[in-house]
Order: sequence, then C-alpha cells, then structure tokens
Amino acid sequence: MVNEYQFRVQPHVAANEQALRSWLADEYGFDVRTVTAVRILRRSIDARQRTIFVNLKVRVYINEQPQDDEYQHTDYPDVSDRPQVIVVGAGPGGLFAALRLIELGLRPIVLERGKDVHERKRDLSQITKTQQVDGESNYCFGEGGAGAYSDGKLYTRSKKRGSIEKILNVFCQHGASTNILADAHPHIGTDKLPRVIENMRNTIINSGGEVHFQTKMTQLLLDGCRVVGCVAADKEYRGPVILATGHSARDVYRYLADSHIELEAKGIAVGVRLEHPSMLIDQIQYHNRQGRGRYLPAAEYSFVTQVDGRGVYSFCMCPGGFVIPAATDKEQIVVNGMSPSNRGGQWSNSGMVVETRAEDIEGSDPLRVMHFQEQLERDCWLQGNRRQTAPAQRMADFVNRRLSYDLPRSSYAPGLISSPLHFWLPQAVSHRLQEGFKQFGRMSHGFLTNEALMIGVETRTSSPVRIVRDTDSLMHIRLQGLFPCGEGAGYAGGIVSAGVDGERCAEMCAAYLGK
Ligand SMILES: Cc1cc2nc3c(=O)[nH]c(=O)nc-3n(C[C@H](O)[C@H](O)[C@H](O)COP(=O)(O)OP(=O)(O)OC[C@H]3O[C@@H](n4cnc5c(N)ncnc54)[C@H](O)[C@@H]3O)c2cc1C
Repeated sequence: MVNEYQFRVQPHVAANEQALRSWLADEYGFDVRTVTAVRILRRSIDARQRTIFVNLKVRVYINEQPQDDEYQHTDYPDVSDRPQVIVVGAGPGGLFAALRLIELGLRPIVLERGKDVHERKRDLSQITKTQQVDGESNYCFGEGGAGAYSDGKLYTRSKKRGSIEKILNVFCQHGASTNILADAHPHIGTDKLPRVIENMRNTIINSGGEVHFQTKMTQLLLDGCRVVGCVAADKEYRGPVILATGHSARDVYRYLADSHIELEAKGIAVGVRLEHPSMLIDQIQYHNRQGRGRYLPAAEYSFVTQVDGRGVYSFCMCPGGFVIPAATDKEQIVVNGMSPSNRGGQWSNSGMVVETRAEDIEGSDPLRVMHFQEQLERDCWLQGNRRQTAPAQRMADFVNRRLSYDLPRSSYAPGLISSPLHFWLPQAVSHRLQEGFKQFGRMSHGFLTNEALMIGVETRTSSPVRIVRDTDSLMHIRLQGLFPCGEGAGYAGGIVSAGVDGERCAEMCAAYLGK
C-alpha cells in the first residue's frame, strides 16, 4: 500500500527518519514495522510563530518497496554524426542548452573561455593570495559559469513549474541530492556543485558532443543576415550559435555593439553585501535566544521595500555562507555570496541592493548601464587601495553617516578596509539603502545593528544589457541562427531560469534546423 499525507511536525521529528516513521504510525494508526520507506515530497519551514513547524508532504510505503527512481530520468542518445550547434558559454544556460540539444538529436560544441570547474578553483584561491583577478578564470568565468561557486540556490520566482522540475531532475540525474525536489527553497551548495557540473560535461562528451575550455569566442561568422558560426581561439566553428556568455562578458557586449548588432540598455540593482553573524539571524528569524538549535537549518530572510520610487531589497541570501570576491578583471572590486551544502558557516550574508533603471542613467548608449556598473566597481577598487581588500562599514554607522572606527570579523578572505560607503556610493543608492535599512530594522527587531557589516560593491545582480531577440523564435531580431540565451542575453536571472532559457533556446534552434 502507498499513501500520501500532508501535515506539520516539530523540527526534531522532521529531522530524523525513525522519529518521523513513529510519528506517522501513531498519527495514522498503522504498525511502524510495516513501513518500508518514507519519501519526502515537499518540505518547508513555518517560522512565523514562536513555535516552529516543518510542513511536510510524504509518501509512505507499507509492506512494499518504491518501484520508481526518486527523480525523472532523461535519455541522452548518441549524436556524434548529427548536425552541430555551437554553444558559447558553459554556465547553466549553455550546459542545459547543450543537454537539451542532445535530447533533440543535435550535436553541441560547447566553447568556454575559462578553465574546467576543478582547475578553476586554483585561480579562485589565488585571488586572496595575490590580490589579483585572472580575467579569464574567476568566480564568473569558467565551467559552470557564475553559478558554479555559489550557494547553488535553485529557487526561482518563475511560474513555469514543468520546466523548473525538469531542470531540478536533470541536476539530480547528475549527482545533486534529491532533497532539491522536495525543499521549498532548494540549494545544492558550493562543495557539491562542481561534481554535478563535471557529470553534466561527461554526459555531453559521452553522447558525442564536444566541450572546449580556454576557447574564447571573439567573432561571429555572418553570411548576410545569417549567423553561420563563430571564431574562438583563432579557429572557426560552424553552425547556428547559442550565445550564453553571461552578464559579465563585457567584451562580448562591446563586440556586439561595435558590430551594430541590436542591443538595449537594461536596468540592474546595485548595492552592497550585508553580513551578520548567523547566530543573530537565527535568533531573529526563529524567535529564540538559543538560535536555531540542532534541528533547524541556518535561517533565511527576505526584505523588500520602496524608497523614492525604486525597489530596495535583499538579494541572493546565503545563510551560513561566505562573501567572495567576484570581479572579472583587474581594476574592479565586486562582491557576491556563496555557501556550502550544510550552510554551517559563522556568518549569513545577502546582497542589499537598489533598483537602478536604464532611464536613471543619462544618454542613449545601450552600454550606459554597463558603464555605470564598471565605474562603481572601479571606484570601489580605488577605495580598496587598488587591491581586493574591500571597503566596508558597520551597518548602523552607515545609517548614521559615521566612519566605522573598527570592523568586526568577516568571512571575506581578501581582507577589508574601513571606508565611508555613505559618502562615496552614489547618493541615489546610499540614501535609499539608509532608508531601506531603517525600515528593515523596524520590521525585524535587531536586524539593523553595528554587528552587521556592509561590504562594497554588489553590482552583478543581472545583465546591464539585453541582446534583443524575437519572442517566438528566440532568435536575435535581425540575425537568423543567433540565439541570445540565459542571463547575459537579459532574459533570465539565476541558475534555474538560465537553465530553463537554455532548454528553450535549444528547442528553438532545433526548430530552426527543421528538427
Ligand atoms: C558568486 C555567485 C553566486 C551566485 N549564487 C546564485 C545562487 O545561489 N542561485 C542562483 O540562482 N543564482 C546565483 N548566481 C547567479 C547565477 O550564477 C547566474 O544567474 C547564472 O549562472 C547565469 O547563467 P548563464 O549560463 O546565463 O551565465 P553564466 O553562468 O554567467 O555563464 C556564462 C559562461 O560563458 C562564458 N563566456 C563568457 N564569454 C565567453 C566567450 N567570449 N567565449 C566563451 N565563453 C564565454 C563564461 O566564462 C561563463 O562560464 C550567483 C552568481 C555568482 C557570481
């Protein structure tokens, strides 16, 4: 017999399978010895009240074993002798496009400017050691893209349920925990993601596709208004092009603009990373001086408000995580966040950002938001003494426009320097952040505190440019055979939505090739 139940229990019951089985047997009146398996289908935490509950939906197997896999399996046929499609960029957009092309009987040739996901790790550790960023191998460039060394949050606001589930199932097939299918806010963790990405690469190669590292695309090959391939590392690759180069490939945007390929400026959000001791966030969110205790995960938060007509909000929260140096070139400081699968670190951070619309920046240049972003990152680098030591300020000092006399300890490895962020951040950003922080402090007692640290600057929240495409064919509005894809195209934001967009671009590319 197989039954499904939906209920809520206290965290210590949800955290232990034996305790959960006993609870189920008591509650629903069956003999615990007959329960052969319990599969968790949905899990979320309800922390609105003083007593915390875990909402669960489970499938209980009584006197029988589960017959099906815990995830849906996708078949990847041999495509070695099939028509080829060039996929530029091995981030989630490019990788999911390549896997979907294989499903559709096409042969992906993936070109990636950075290194493979393991080699890349060495360059990341060098940032702290040498205070230098490698322009081709960093937290944004390399196999797995910007999401490879991240929190691996797989939560998206997109409503395309079927497409999202497909992405999550493909991740499971490549080694992610099946917990991501159940959790309301699923995440993989920076320690687990590289292995999953490597497995995805192996699927592409084993099916007859190709993956080339340190192979930067520098030019598109055109035949009239048709893109017929590209040049990368001085070699020509022929086929339609899925361009999934992410939001940080500024050389790609410059090349497209110089080639008069239609682009639009797009709004972004800019601000800082805010870091609190994770114990403090746990105490606030779980309403308990003891923090989260043994059975609850590091607490999350989400804030949003409006100040002077622009959104001010928390972004990409990493409970129990680290703040990391995410610049892609030498004279920049950019911060972001990541966390391991157990989210067990001493600090919790999030981006605290202010909406910046294209119309807020003067001019008509499609690259003007990118230039604004670049200027802010360079200003930050200058404030950081031309190193990766990031300018920082205590949160309450920032609100009260005071330089911080000293700084608390932080997870940011390259080091910090006390700096008056209230003074040098653009007024439109600092004023709104100050007002936003006051409101968040009123919403959540203890959140606005000098124990929290602001680290500058968070600018890579989304693409500052849109590579304009047709809504139906997903091809560039003028150039046939060019499929701008993922976050860099300005049509996705986050790992899952870039993956969904990658799949859609692959499908449209197959339609273009008459498949
Ligand atoms: C530190 C960090 C943490 C993040 N955490 C999360 C999170 O927890 N959850 C979430 O949903 N999102 C997170 N994000 C955002 C997420 O990573 C991106 O939204 C997502 O990776 C976008 O996917 P993409 O494939 O469109 O682009 P990218 O992931 O940016 O991939 C683009 C790829 O193209 C390559 N490339 C660029 N130019 C060229 C060229 N000329 N030739 C060849 N290759 C090129 C790059 O090297 C890169 O590998 C995080 C981002 C960062 C930086």
